[in-house]
Amino acid sequence: MLAAVRHATGAEKAALHEPEFAGREWDYVKECIDTGWVSSVGKMVDRFEAMLAEFTGAARAVATANGTAALHIAVVLAGAGPGDEVIVPSLTFIATANAVSYAGAVPHFADVAADTIGLDAAKLDAHLSDVARVGPSGCVNRITGRPIKAAIVMHAFGHPADLDALGEVCARHKLVLIEDAAESLGSYYRGKHTGALARVGTLSFNGNKIVTTGGGGAVLTNDPALGARAKHLTTTARISAGWNFVHDEIGYNYRLPNLNAALGCAQLERIDSFLTRKRTLAERYRAAFASMTGATFVAEPPGTKSNYWLNNIMLAAGRESEQAAVLAALNGAGFGARPAWTPMHMLKMYRDCPRADVSVAEDVFRRLVSLPSSAALAGPG
Ligand SMILES: *Cc1c(COP(=O)(O)O)cnc(C)c1O
Repeated sequence: MLAAVRHATGAEKAALHEPEFAGREWDYVKECIDTGWVSSVGKMVDRFEAMLAEFTGAARAVATANGTAALHIAVVLAGAGPGDEVIVPSLTFIATANAVSYAGAVPHFADVAADTIGLDAAKLDAHLSDVARVGPSGCVNRITGRPIKAAIVMHAFGHPADLDALGEVCARHKLVLIEDAAESLGSYYRGKHTGALARVGTLSFNGNKIVTTGGGGAVLTNDPALGARAKHLTTTARISAGWNFVHDEIGYNYRLPNLNAALGCAQLERIDSFLTRKRTLAERYRAAFASMTGATFVAEPPGTKSNYWLNNIMLAAGRESEQAAVLAALNGAGFGARPAWTPMHMLKMYRDCPRADVSVAEDVFRRLVSLPSSAALAGPG
């Protein structure tokens, strides 16, 4: 295992994922400081939002303080609130479930598919047919009596989930589909950018993501009215009234500072270089693990193009007990390696939430190992 990772990375040691600032980051940040526009208003925010909309093909991108804030707003925009349930894959980063909680709703955990590591559409369909009924006012959980308003699909590690099948299942059960595309900037499902395919999607620009603003996120939508509402809600719901402070509802201070947006503009200018090198690295990992019997490289699902944000291997069935030793050996030798997130239904604050059979999520948790994935491992950009 260690030999394969050394071979693929061509390095003696490597972090799991490191940011790279080799473009105009300094120039743009300096411009903010020189002009005094460092905070929540400024032309870098507008420029970053325009660049994001263009890159993803979304009609509107609204920059936010982080990806979790963007997800919170996405849940609100989907119409879910106190007393509602929202379908969340059990295998995801904590932000997906927390965002549902922030909106006052309850996460209802569903399983992932072994091939995409994203929500399993067929299994979700069977589960909803089992526990929910669809009436004129929407989908209701027959067991809890609560409305199920939406489903969040998360494109895990950059690999797009099966959006067509999920869209169809959601339409039939009257659920709003939300894409958590925090990990999939630069990933495409049947030629279309992830995060811009559902009614609302979100991105993250945390330090470990494919491009970073230090901390940041964005809401994506193709519905101009929803985009305007996202901007309003994330900017304290202030209405234009000259110099007076007038707010027409309880909004949020989820604005991305201009300083952070400056970093984002410079990073996005180089995304093609990041993506190209990440595919090169993924190809090296694929080749390095091709002949190994104990583990397989997790490749992009058919019909999709992954950004290969994190490269992963899946230990062979029956080898779950070796996961701890593999992680210890890699980290001990200086290679950042991690298991997948602890499934949400196994965490104490979420263990009593409604859930489907989540056996694949548990299986992936026991068998997956994420490997060093910085673009720089495939050379300078
Ligand atoms: C990174 C990430 C987020 C957002 O995280 P922030 O740190 O708040 O930007 C949300 N969902 C997933 C799956 C993520 O990986």
